Amino acid sequence: MAVVTEKKTSIEKTEPKVLLELKGIKKYFPIKGGILQRHLGDVKAVENVSLQLFEGESLGVVGESGCGKSTLGRAILGLEELTEGKIYFQDTEIQDLKRKEKLKFVKQMQMIFQDPYASLNPRQRIGPALEEVFTMHTDLSAKEKRQTVLDLLKEVGLKEEHFDKYPHEFSGGQRQRIGIARAIALNPSFVICDEAVSALDVSVQAQVLKLLKTLQEKYNLSYLFISHDLGVVRYFCDRVLVMYLGNTVELGTVSELFDKPLHPYTQALLSAIPRPSVRANRKRIRLQGDLPNPANPPSGCPFHTRCPIASDLCKAEKPAWVEYEPNHYAACHFAGQPIG
Ligand code: SF4
Repeated sequence: MAVVTEKKTSIEKTEPKVLLELKGIKKYFPIKGGILQRHLGDVKAVENVSLQLFEGESLGVVGESGCGKSTLGRAILGLEELTEGKIYFQDTEIQDLKRKEKLKFVKQMQMIFQDPYASLNPRQRIGPALEEVFTMHTDLSAKEKRQTVLDLLKEVGLKEEHFDKYPHEFSGGQRQRIGIARAIALNPSFVICDEAVSALDVSVQAQVLKLLKTLQEKYNLSYLFISHDLGVVRYFCDRVLVMYLGNTVELGTVSELFDKPLHPYTQALLSAIPRPSVRANRKRIRLQGDLPNPANPPSGCPFHTRCPIASDLCKAEKPAWVEYEPNHYAACHFAGQPIG
């Protein structure tokens, strides 16, 4: 990796240390209408999310599109202003820091997008585009910047000759490598991968995931891995958070959550993963209806309008977030009850 600051290059295996902590995160988007643009309500994109992310771990965030997972990622990075809640990074509450104080943390928190092409200037060569990161954040000389970018390209599996190429001259996988290069340029501790491999072919996907793993091991990176692809999440992540309509509904280690899903929504999501063998055949659970409108979420359990085992209790009372097994949480009145 391009070395801008001193940083550890090996993982000391001790007790996992909390890198990022979210406490009661809410993100509502106001709905306004009329001539006076009066406040008519809110789209509740993220509803009371609390969790911890440990150093060196990959936490997958899954759920249907519109469940709030990308908004959560953007809110963590400060790209969306929080409606409520607190974000702690390395034990410092960061959401209200002044710009200058925040910069130190911003450099440590980066994002890899689904489509890196969209954020690249088509008329700018890749080398100078990456050099800009160092112009903004470091005092490196022109010569040092060029060498740092060349090292960075090598680190992500690109070549020296790519320095002078334009974005359109790269394949999808190579562009994603550029996105990764930009994300790791300033030696971050934490990277949000927002559907980072979703647009890639399966073989390219595997190469990019391998690169992300290699970088994680080398630099002790923590990933928040947002994806709709549970197969990829199972392969790549240590723990998984399931979201539904802005709410967290289940959190557990990959093995716990995939082998013993507690929440009906998780069970339905897992049933849709293609099985590698007929013996492992699992009945597909098809959820009825669409995702409810987040501007007008259902009463009680947000999943009750689509849950096959919903009862009157579910309609009346929102289930609590309970730790059913060590490090395995769910929000369901009938957690663990099979639905199909
Ligand atoms: Fe289904 Fe009720 Fe559990 Fe909600 S609380 S997921 S409606 S069983």
